[in-house]
Amino acid sequence: MIPSITLDELLARFKLDPAPFKPVAGRYPCRLTRYYAGLIQKPGDPIWRQCVPDPLELADDGQHPDPLDEERLSPVPGLIHRYPDRAVLLVSNRCAVYCRFCMRKRQVGCGAVGLDMERAIAYLAATPQIRDVVLSGGDPLLLPADQLHSLLGRLRTIPHLEIIRIGSRVPVTAPGLITPALCRMLAEHHPLYLNTHFNHPRELTGEAAQACCLLADAGIPLGNQTVLLRGINDQHAVLEQLFSGLLRLRVRPYYLHQMDLVKGTAHFRTPLVRGMELIAGLRGKVSGLAIPHFVVDLPGGQGKVPLLAQTARHGDDGWTIRNLAGNPVSYHDLPGSL
Ligand code: SF4
Repeated sequence: MIPSITLDELLARFKLDPAPFKPVAGRYPCRLTRYYAGLIQKPGDPIWRQCVPDPLELADDGQHPDPLDEERLSPVPGLIHRYPDRAVLLVSNRCAVYCRFCMRKRQVGCGAVGLDMERAIAYLAATPQIRDVVLSGGDPLLLPADQLHSLLGRLRTIPHLEIIRIGSRVPVTAPGLITPALCRMLAEHHPLYLNTHFNHPRELTGEAAQACCLLADAGIPLGNQTVLLRGINDQHAVLEQLFSGLLRLRVRPYYLHQMDLVKGTAHFRTPLVRGMELIAGLRGKVSGLAIPHFVVDLPGGQGKVPLLAQTARHGDDGWTIRNLAGNPVSYHDLPGSL
């Protein structure tokens, strides 16, 4: 049971009228832990903006609910097979907090999880080129521990699955759920990696540090994917503090992620060039270990690529980015994202 707080309670704390927030929460669910809401200092601050519904989510931004074509790339409901050697299993549609910028806004917190587990495991077992499976969702660490243990055990019986990765924001939004018992269970399924999702240095609390310490002590290599969010972390000083702080927690900054072109999130997007400037500005200032790759997931399921001068070129007709096969793909910043 996660100690949670309702949106009404949170708004009452700041003496705000709930009326403008309700239609947004009706369209895209709102869920808050008491812990994460407790990090908010005032409305509109970097924590607030990540978790409190914003009427801008309902703007007609011309974006698509599934720009990465995950549903087309799912041979089995809930299993995404985009790269030859990797697959993603969407094991839950619940999270401790529903992030307003989520790439799976279309699914998280809505209805039942769409995964057909038996068919997904049969597909993985019958596809020997898959060596790496990522448990995602929603948040896999919101599954009951015995259910997660059983799933990991079943995956471990597939000999060609060399590594298992878990994507989880629990260390950020509900760090109290990371217990010694959970870590002992996870350690039974090595080699197991965990990628978490800190976006702002104010999330690097003592509780979060303790959660990361328990996971790292269980031998689980920790990485972090930060999403570049307009007005939240799109400043050099913020990222420098965040990435250096993560290293102190034994979490390696892995990706700085360009916001996907997901419907309802346009207000969070920065232009591509901003991410490139931010990464360039970190060089020489912080340890190379603290500098993640700046990546963009190309629309239409064309894959995730690091944005380097060699792979991305800007011209009169927008960006041309080479995908993993070396083919040029057109990419356009949203008008007004400058
Ligand atoms: S924790 Fe991840 S999957 Fe869940 S709402 Fe946040 S970004 Fe989306």
